[in-house]
Parts: sequence; C-alpha cells; structure tokens
Amino acid sequence: MRKPYLMGNWKMNQLKEDIDSFFMSVPKNIDWNKVKCALAPQAIHIPYLIEKCKGSGIAVGSQNCSAFEDGAYTGELSLNALKEMGCAFSLIGHSERRTLFQESDKSLNQKFKLCMKHQHKAVFCVGETLEERESNKTHEVLERQLRDGLEGLSDSHLPYLVVAYEPVWAIGTGLTAKPDQANDAHQFIRRFLKEHFQVDSQKVWILYGGSVKPANIEELLEKQDIDGALIGGASLKGQSYFEMVEKAVSI
Ligand code: PEP
Repeated sequence: MRKPYLMGNWKMNQLKEDIDSFFMSVPKNIDWNKVKCALAPQAIHIPYLIEKCKGSGIAVGSQNCSAFEDGAYTGELSLNALKEMGCAFSLIGHSERRTLFQESDKSLNQKFKLCMKHQHKAVFCVGETLEERESNKTHEVLERQLRDGLEGLSDSHLPYLVVAYEPVWAIGTGLTAKPDQANDAHQFIRRFLKEHFQVDSQKVWILYGGSVKPANIEELLEKQDIDGALIGGASLKGQSYFEMVEKAVSI
C-alpha cells in the first residue's frame, strides 16, 4: 500500500556543478511507479533542481519554510513562494533546525498548520537524543514532539503528512538504528497518531533517517512499518542515491 519513499536531504551542500554530476548517474530503466523519490536541496537551487528533475519521477522540496504567511519577515522562506516555484514538500523540524536554530514544538506546529492550510506536504521530523534513549525516554519524547508539533491533525490532512523518525544519535554519525529498533519506534508513532489524533495512521508514510546507505537500506525497508528513508550524506552522490532507489524498487 505504501510504496517505498526515498527522500534525500542535501542540507547546505551541493553547488550547481555537483547537481549536474548527480544526474549523470540516473539509471535508464527505473520503474518510477514502484518508488517515490524526492530531494531537498538548498532553497536557492530549488528552481534549478526542478528543471533537472523534469521527466523523472523525482519531486523537489525545501528543507524548511516560514511559520508566517507573508509580510515583514526578513530572511524567511515563504511557503506561497515555494509552492509557486513548484516545490512539492517541506521538511519541518529536522533535528538540526531544532537544535542549532532553537525551533520549538510550538513554532513547528505553526509551520505544520500553515502547510496544512495550503495543502502542502509537510515531512515532520521527530527523534530522541542518545541521552534520552539511554534513560528510556524515547517514547516520551516522540509523544511530546508529535502531540505538540502536530496539534490540530485530522484525517483530511493525511495526504499532506509524512513523518520522519530520525534518532538524533544516528544522524550523520555512521550509527544506524537496528531495523527492529527503528521499526518499534515507527509502530509507536503510528499507534500514537491513531490513538491521540484518531486518524487512519495506516495512510501515513513514516520514513527512517539516520546514516542510511546502500549497505543497510534493504534490511530497513523490509520492516513492515518502515515506509522509506530520509537520507543525508548517502544522497549527495547520484551513484549512491540511485543504488538505494534500485534496491527499494526490487524489494
Ligand atoms: C538527515 O540529515 O536527515 C540524515 C538522516 O543524515 P544522514 O543520513 O547523513 O545520517
């Protein structure tokens, strides 16, 4: 029902020449119907990447968006302008935004609500730190991030919601959650969405993120509640990203 979704988060990497090299590795025979592919470049490259992705099955999104609709908000990234450019989704609450830019559950909820108002796909990121996991607080943290960040969620929003479970200790560290460990968290998230918001959470894609690479993607995607991956480092090079896409197609 939920075909694998492979989303690359390029963070503040890639210049135009890197984007050009990325596309030298697009395999000829990908069955785009069997996989959902997406990339989130730096905002300035969104129009360029949209042009490059024409004719492929790859959607292009942003790594962030403003909580404000429009007006005097210097330096912010307007959702309306993103949509006008053809941007298909926005990441909300990536752990780097939460930690380095002090984004709170409350401000993330404003962003989430704005996305829902404009029927724009929000990829809502949650995850615990190592300290929280080691003190058995994983569920408590996920519960708070989902309850406060997705406040107002209803069934009509589900086509525009993707959740990304990204344990902070696994992001960019080379440490990956064990497939069972990740699947447990995904099951917890799905159950919480159903029980707390009373929505049909079987309709929600839940992606795993944290040092996903060609060598481990299959064992993760084989788990029932892992519907795809949010991939940082291993999505920067076309060869590695498309190797994962091919693996996802063949599962
Ligand atoms: C991420 O930034 O969302 C991420 C999961 O990064 P990496 O794959 O490099 O751990």
